Parts: sequence; C-alpha cells; structure tokens
Amino acid sequence: MSLRLYNTLSRQVEEFAPLQPGRVSIYTCGPTIYNYAHIGNFRTFLFEDLLRRWLEASGYDVFHIMNLTDVDDRTIAAAREKGLSLRQHVDQFATAFEEDRDWLRILPADEQPRATEYIPAMICLIDALMQRGFAYLGDDGSVYFSIAKFPAYGRLSRLDLRELKAGASERVSSDEYAKEDARDFVLWKAARAEDEAVGAAWDAPFGRGRPGWHIECSAMALELLRQHLGVDVLDIHAGGVDLIFPHHEDEIAQSCAYTGKEQFARYWVHGEFLNIRGEKMSKRFGNITTARDLRQDGVDPGAVRLLMFQTHYRQKLDLTDEGLAATQKASSRLGEFQKRLTEAMGAADPPRLSQAANRLRSDAGMALNDDLNAPRAVAAVFTFMNEANAALDSGERPGPETVSTWQWIEGVLGVTSRGMVLNVPTGTEAGRWNQAETANVYPEAPPDGSSEEQQKAWALHWALRRRQAKGARDYPEADRIRGLLRSAGWEVRDAKDGSVEVVLIPRAS
Ligand SMILES: [Zn+2]
Repeated sequence: MSLRLYNTLSRQVEEFAPLQPGRVSIYTCGPTIYNYAHIGNFRTFLFEDLLRRWLEASGYDVFHIMNLTDVDDRTIAAAREKGLSLRQHVDQFATAFEEDRDWLRILPADEQPRATEYIPAMICLIDALMQRGFAYLGDDGSVYFSIAKFPAYGRLSRLDLRELKAGASERVSSDEYAKEDARDFVLWKAARAEDEAVGAAWDAPFGRGRPGWHIECSAMALELLRQHLGVDVLDIHAGGVDLIFPHHEDEIAQSCAYTGKEQFARYWVHGEFLNIRGEKMSKRFGNITTARDLRQDGVDPGAVRLLMFQTHYRQKLDLTDEGLAATQKASSRLGEFQKRLTEAMGAADPPRLSQAANRLRSDAGMALNDDLNAPRAVAAVFTFMNEANAALDSGERPGPETVSTWQWIEGVLGVTSRGMVLNVPTGTEAGRWNQAETANVYPEAPPDGSSEEQQKAWALHWALRRRQAKGARDYPEADRIRGLLRSAGWEVRDAKDGSVEVVLIPRAS
C-alpha cells in the first residue's frame, strides 16, 4: 500500500505519486522571523516533519525547502518598533527558530532560503509578469498582479469568481487580507520612508521598493527547484490552513502565470490550527505559547511531538496542561521502554516479539499511508510496547529485527522522552535525537578505560553533532568533528536515510 494524501486543491484524498519516480520535492512556508514562532506554528512544522520523515522512511529521496520570511509588513514594523535595522532584528529570531526547531527534533530543510537573499529572483519574476501582461504598475508606484488576467484564480480557496470580478478594479497592498477583500494583490511595494529607515528597500527596473510576501515564496521555490531538480512544478506544498487564502492562492497565480504550467504544486497539504485551553491563540487572549516557554517549563520535546501526533493533522487540536502532563508521562514510559528493549537485545528474534514487531510495522505503516494518520500509528506503538513489555517480563529477549522495527518507527515519530537515548550504543536513530543538553559538556576524546560500547556511544554522539553542523552549513565544525573522530580511530558515514553510522578504522598492524 502506498501513501494517500488529502489534497486541498481537489478536496479529496488522493494517491500520492511524485513527478519524478523516487524523488519528492516539498516546499513548506517557514516562519516569519519577526518574533519567536509559537507552538501553533510548530504544530504545522511538526506535521510537515512527519510527512517528510515518512516519505524518507518509504524510500523517497526528498528535497525539502523551507523559507524564512525576513522581509514583510510584520518584520519591518517590528524592527521599527525596536529601533533596529531589519537585519539586526530578524537575525536573533532566525537563530531562535533554529534552536526551537532542533529542540523539537524537526529535521532541517535541505534549503532554508531567506527572502532577502532572493531579491534578484523576485525582481526577474515580477518583470516577466509585467511583460506578459499579468502585472502592472499602479499609480501609487507599487506593482500589482491582475487577477482578472488569471482565470484559474480562486481555485484553491474556492472563491466565488463572480463576486470577485465586481471588486477586481480595487487593489490590496497589505500582505494579509480576508477573502472578502480578494482583488489585485501587491507584488512589489514602492519604498516608503519607514522601509528605507530599516534597510528594507531595493532598486528594481519598476522602481525602488520591496517584495510583497506572496512573491517571495514563488521566487524562492521556483529558483531552487530549477537549480536542484531542473523542474518548475513542486510535488508537495504544505502549510497551515490559514495560508490557503490569500498566500497560497496568490503563490499559484504568480507562479503559474510565470511558468505557463497548469500547476505550481501537485499536492497542497494543510494542517489545522492549535488552540490553547479552548481559545484561539492570540495576543488579545494573552495566551501565546512559544516552544521556548515549554522548554523552560521542563517539557520534553518527545512529549510535545506525542501530543501533536495524537491528533490528526487535519483536526483542530486543543493544548491543555492536563493533555501535556499526560503525554509527558506517556513519552517517559516510551523512553524507559526503549532503553529496556535495546539493552535486552539478544542474537535472535523469538516468535512472540517478532510477531508483535511485524504487527507494529504493518499497522503503523498502513496508518501513516492513510493520509498521515499519526494517532493510529501512535496507538500501534503503545500496543507494541505493552506486548513487548509482557514478553520481556517473562524473560524473552528481543532480536535485531524487533529492535530495528522499533528504531524505524521512532525514527519517524520521535516521540520518546530523551535522556535515555545516548545509552543506546547500537541505535543510530535513537542516538540522533540527543542534542543541545550534552553538547557543551561532552568530552572531545573517549574517556580513558571506557568499554567498546561506551566508545561507540561517544563516537555516535559526535557523528550526530557533525550531521547537525552540516545541516547548519557549519562545515568547519563538521570537519573538526571528523578530525576528532579520526584521531580516536572512528570513521563517520552518512547514510542515505539521514541516519549516521560510525565504523572503527582497522588499525594497521
Ligand atoms: Zn509561503
């Protein structure tokens, strides 16, 4: 059975098949780095992480792009308020986002473009749209997209086109607006004094200014797709439901008008909102919760993932203290179980455990293939834990197949409590979760007199940190770590599935 996904474009669950066999391109709209991303944003990023991990576990070679919106109405307003340049203001939140992302075990995207680094690509795109008659310079000096020139406008968000035409002579220049205000939208905003003041204005043939929010994603996605895959259609475009209109509708209009293709993305996948104690998260309710709030409260990232994955991504989720406390406990139980299972590993798989593992593989696999039904996959994980605990109680020991099945599903979900994982010398998947806590205190050489297992755990730890460094494009650090490992006699290998492996270099005799 293969993956089926709900496509917002057709409002139906469809069989998933990528454009190029075996390769999947995904674009996920990243955070607007004007402030800390809140836990509702991270609910979206976590469902996207699950989607990516599941595609990879299913054997696809995934190319994932997640942008950082570092210039838009909100970032400029926030920089002005703080009296900083745009760059100074957003940099701190870009770093904060990466810390939160890593803490929540979200895999870094293959490309993480920042809008301000792609201004020339945006200018090219707008210029082409003007030349082809899809865009025009308004009397206010800004460039607008003419929705009347693009008959498919409104398809994604199911807008009533007749109503649209009545208002189509109007224009909208803010980045965010309601469906009722659907009309010609801005591609390039003429520079105002307040934009210049924070360094958010660029020269363009159609006048000095800065990009509108929507054009940013179109330009970055098309540019990176062309560079890496030589195509101009995405397989999957994902985001929160609040992005369907206007953001994704506008992305489609700009991109398709530019490429001449019927589609910008073949599957549009959207995650639902997260509420806090029954209320929509908002400044007005004063209930904005960030990932770092949870971290400071001592919540385990495994518990946050578990909480998110216990509800289907297309259903609203209510975050409560009780819910979090319950998943915290459940995540700890999973962590303890993982330790028990891997430590008890023997040479062969006894029938009872082997059958339980097979059931886990098939139940969790079917669930995730069924429009990413994580709640059912999580239920299969707990069923397996109970069955395996009973087998362990009666003195059975799991074999490599049982343990690797566990590592396979934990590698997709990542819901076990941390703290246990570095004790697992054999588990590459398990070990990859452990991050920041031990980062600064971990010895740079294996402790004297350590056992072979401890040495392997040491090597694995550094191999994982090297992978993180590579993910963050910190190549000098990645090379330094490779050196540390070599001098202790270890070679590090990056596996295709994203895991890492350490191999003892045979000593010359
Ligand atoms: Zn976007």
